[in-house]
Amino acid sequence: MNLKKRLEHRFYRYSAIPSQSDPSNETVPSSVGQWEMAELLAQELAELDVTDISIGETGVVYGRLPARLAPGHKPVPKAGWCCHMDTVDVHLSPEVHPLTVRNYQGGDILQNPEKQIYLRADEHPELNDYIGQDIIVSDGTSVLGADNKAAVSNLMVALEIIKEDPAIEHGEIYIAFVPDEETGLRGSKSMDFSKFPVDFAYTIDCCEQGEVVYQTFNAGEAVLNIRGVPAHPMSSKNNLVNPAMVAVDYINLLDRAETPEHTEDTEGYLWVTDIYCDGLDAKVMIDIRDHDLKKYKAKKEFLQKALEITQLKHPRAVMSLEMKDIYGNIYDALTDDNRMCIDLIYEALDELGIEPKTKAMRGGTDGSFISTQGIPTPNYFTGALNFHSSAEFLPLDAFENSCKLTLKLMEMIAKA
Ligand SMILES: [Zn+2]
Repeated sequence: MNLKKRLEHRFYRYSAIPSQSDPSNETVPSSVGQWEMAELLAQELAELDVTDISIGETGVVYGRLPARLAPGHKPVPKAGWCCHMDTVDVHLSPEVHPLTVRNYQGGDILQNPEKQIYLRADEHPELNDYIGQDIIVSDGTSVLGADNKAAVSNLMVALEIIKEDPAIEHGEIYIAFVPDEETGLRGSKSMDFSKFPVDFAYTIDCCEQGEVVYQTFNAGEAVLNIRGVPAHPMSSKNNLVNPAMVAVDYINLLDRAETPEHTEDTEGYLWVTDIYCDGLDAKVMIDIRDHDLKKYKAKKEFLQKALEITQLKHPRAVMSLEMKDIYGNIYDALTDDNRMCIDLIYEALDELGIEPKTKAMRGGTDGSFISTQGIPTPNYFTGALNFHSSAEFLPLDAFENSCKLTLKLMEMIAKA
């Protein structure tokens, strides 16, 4: 079977397991489908000569492929790959039914004849770049979940090829399949790093062909709690403290230019994501994001200052602010001595004739947490586009190149 066919088969097999994570469930993994993925992958790893396979309490699958090097070969770095098993919950169906469009000829793609759902070419001009290619789409009722099952397939096929071809030399390779990336990197945060003792690692968790990411947001979450003073209209004058108005006053202090709708590239933001309110209490949830750690910290300080100002205006309101960090910028974990994992990506892309597209990601990956643990973990493309939407699609040529990059990296690390 050729590489593309192998990848497509794997991708269909993993897509058949609904493994959407559930942000409202605090246990990890947050859904049973992720256990099912973990068990299947652990079984399949055993068939690929991977040893030390285990499934942790939170569903993380660990494994190690022992090195295969010529006798007397100097030691080479230990590298890890981490892929997430969940698909994102964006209020679409957890069931994924992929469909491959062969030799796409341009125009709209009928994703779902029964429901008459189309991937419209005028809404998605990026489709034009893939004319003449095979493209995998969803049936329009769900995401495609190439984020991140394209990565899982990619790594498994790479391991399969290594097993079949004894001529490929490689160092020790560590594998981690994690749940709940999409619910705040909870899977990677629960990893037992004694089972992932690597010099560096990779995720395969971004988009179009050539993308390389080693800058992500610093990310945090703020929750503002407000308790007002309720009163009957008969006695409300100079008495009522309306928590809704307190919340509005607080929000009005935020800079309207520093919101997701007014920022791009490496500009950070504060995003008021949820407001809950009744006569007694209000709660405001805010996402804090900035690539620059200093600016990120300044945003947190500002939120605290805004609380103090609002409190002065509403002395009888009881207010508290809880803030927590979710992940960091991979870039901040890099030093002159540990950049090799990134240099290797560019060298491998060059050898494969793929043009690199370096991106500062407006988001985070498992690598954003793993890097904070002293393991630099850059990220490269799956080939898929439109993550987190029913318009997500995966061109097979780019998918194949993503897998070739994995194999090339494994080969180059053995020579490093
Ligand atoms: Zn992802």
